[in-house]
Amino acid sequence: MSAKMKISLPAQMALGLVLGILAGCIVPQDIANDYLKPLGTLFITLIRMVVVPLVLATIVAGAAGISDLRKLGRVASKTLIYYFLTTAIAIIIGLVLALIIQPGVGLNLATDNLKATQVTPPSMLTTLMNIVPLNPMDALAKGNMLQVIFFAVMFGFGLSALGERGKPLYQVFELTGDVMIRVTGAVMLYAPIGVFGLMASTVASHGIAVLLPLIKFIAVMYLAAVIHVFVTYYPCIRVGVGMNFSTFFKGVFTPVMIAFTTTSSAAALPANMRSVRQLGASKSVSSFSIPLGNTINMDGTAIYMGIAAVFAAEVYGIDLTMADYFTVMIMGVLASIGTAGVPGAGLIMVSIVFTQINVPLEAVALIAGIDRILDMARTSLNVFGDATGALLVTKMEGELGKDPVEEGDLLI
Ligand code: ASP
Repeated sequence: MSAKMKISLPAQMALGLVLGILAGCIVPQDIANDYLKPLGTLFITLIRMVVVPLVLATIVAGAAGISDLRKLGRVASKTLIYYFLTTAIAIIIGLVLALIIQPGVGLNLATDNLKATQVTPPSMLTTLMNIVPLNPMDALAKGNMLQVIFFAVMFGFGLSALGERGKPLYQVFELTGDVMIRVTGAVMLYAPIGVFGLMASTVASHGIAVLLPLIKFIAVMYLAAVIHVFVTYYPCIRVGVGMNFSTFFKGVFTPVMIAFTTTSSAAALPANMRSVRQLGASKSVSSFSIPLGNTINMDGTAIYMGIAAVFAAEVYGIDLTMADYFTVMIMGVLASIGTAGVPGAGLIMVSIVFTQINVPLEAVALIAGIDRILDMARTSLNVFGDATGALLVTKMEGELGKDPVEEGDLLI
């Protein structure tokens, strides 16, 4: 095929998405699950295979390469402030929009036979203590991202303390990171087929009958996501980074598409890292902020917490007070920090918010049937937010585009 005729990867993925939706409408559910879903499962496994070595290698090399500890502190604090502010804005948008559109009013859903298990939130102290792994190998094997990040930063500092003697090992980690980015590129060649399989099985297993009663909830979620993109990310990119928004959108299309179809931000991590580097984010900022944001910065999940709280209160005829809304905000931010980047994690965490405002937990089971559809919007936004943060902090550090991807680096 001539170079001109080549269809770009994002276009191929979009095609996979459309064909997947069509196939999901035509193919019976069991056939879609038996034959098409494995195509998607293989894709998720392939990308998740890359995550742990990529994060370990890039963070070790990143931490070892930072000679200036003050810079690390600066990057970390700017990143964390951005994460906190954008997540708080997200939950406010979710709450306000849900209060306007009232997705649960007039709904008469039978909840008698529904059961939901309560999730007890771990205390703040336990959460913080759990960041330190007892056994780093175990953290790596389980893919516990915060623990991997903690260990990698410590290891990187130790490595940099060795000075000249540590150079060979430093190079090993640096090269491993670069190799994993290339492996990601290779895996991406399979993305269109994976996207096709995932969409086909999702559409086949979500009939109109399941979606219709909760269509208002779905509409509020997607509308809130779009509003958040324009109210929060657009000014950050346009004014903060000084980048054309369509350039940014095209640049992050691949990771967002992966997020949308896999509903796992962990699966979108390698592609997101690659995309922000191509858009001009520096290695030192992105290797730290993308893996961290992947685990603790979840704007989409926060929006969902706000909408779900209002929805459930409406279904059960509970009047929420101003104090309740405030609790939803605080708990929503905390819960989204604690949510893992895997499919459906937000649905489990939402029960923490419900418990705090005395909404029956059966409400969780009520929305479980459509969670996948909601998760697609949540995860896309989660990934969008991380990419915006990496570019914004890079710009604040005066490093935008100054750390170009090495030639031949992203050949695939
Ligand atoms: N699936 C989401 C993610 O991976 C988390 C969630 O369920 O809200 O980012």
